[in-house]
Amino acid sequence: MNEHIAKRRVRAAKALAERGIDAFLLTPSSDLTYLSGYRIFPSERLTCLVLTARGEAKLLVPVLEAPRARAAQTGIPLVTWSETEDPIARVRELVGDATSLALADQMWAAFVLPFARTFARARLVTASEVLRPLRMRKDDEELAALREAATAADRAFERLSRDVRFSGRREHEVARDLTALLLEEGHEEVKFCIIASGPNGASPHHETGERVIEDGDVVVCDFGGTVRGYTSDITRTLFVGKGSVPDEVRRVHDTVRRAQEAGYAAARRGAAAQEVDRAARRTIGEAGYAEKFLHRTGHGIGLDGHEHPYLVEGNAEPLEPGMTFSIEPGIYLDGKFGVRIEDIVALADGGPEPLNRADRGLARVR
Ligand code: ZN
Ligand code: ZN
Ligand code: ZN
Repeated sequence: MNEHIAKRRVRAAKALAERGIDAFLLTPSSDLTYLSGYRIFPSERLTCLVLTARGEAKLLVPVLEAPRARAAQTGIPLVTWSETEDPIARVRELVGDATSLALADQMWAAFVLPFARTFARARLVTASEVLRPLRMRKDDEELAALREAATAADRAFERLSRDVRFSGRREHEVARDLTALLLEEGHEEVKFCIIASGPNGASPHHETGERVIEDGDVVVCDFGGTVRGYTSDITRTLFVGKGSVPDEVRRVHDTVRRAQEAGYAAARRGAAAQEVDRAARRTIGEAGYAEKFLHRTGHGIGLDGHEHPYLVEGNAEPLEPGMTFSIEPGIYLDGKFGVRIEDIVALADGGPEPLNRADRGLARVR
């Protein structure tokens, strides 16, 4: 049994009690994994972790998935339901009469609505209302997994920029090579691989496609996957071929780099999350590209690729040691190219520690 996770349940139950909430109902999601270690895809068959404010946990699973749940060795007693039973009624038996329940943020409406009918008198809240402060501060085991994921992504990037040909190939062909590298370097799963070449780079979430990459292209590469359930997410911008780099490309890349450095400098213990965004935005604004920075400066990361805290104007939440988030300014020039540089950082007592260390310069690829 994983004691880190058992300790999380103790803290989470205490947080429930403090808020006068009777129990968590957590269907397959990062909330379920956070409090049990169990990883399972969402499906129409109900899996539900019930954790009460008294600290009692039960994991309700469909009987056909009991072997899988047992193999996960969560240390939580299993309750199974068979194909002809009503699993919602089983949850009702486990919880009893509740006045307030916290539901997994990512629970399907197909379960939320039956729960709402079954617990008609209960106030329903999202689990993040209770779990957000806990999940934002990573424990040692989580930090180790995030560090491992980030270094695996760094290694994949180094091989991408050294060994993979870009010129003359389609974006999705390069993405396929990168996917293989991420897996070889230790990811269990690849979540996304954005290869945005030339004018496609001006779309921050470009869907990697058929465009043939040419010499002289600027290419934004943004990719990540999971290691022990924890996410990597890194962006680097590359230049294709031996030709000289246009002045505008240099200027934009240099501005984004300085914006990221300003973000790092602002990411201090106790600083408001929005200060990091302001610092990066100020640098980009001073260079005359204020309107070309289309998104917030960063997002928290952990079991989910995007989670709290969000580094965005309006979020005054203080940054604290143990928080992990991206710093990823970008400039997007419609019809021309884009540049983004993204690292995952962990905030320590002395300041932000970059988990990604791959070279941030404008690397040249073939
Ligand atoms: Zn993104
Ligand atoms: Zn990214
Ligand atoms: Zn990101």
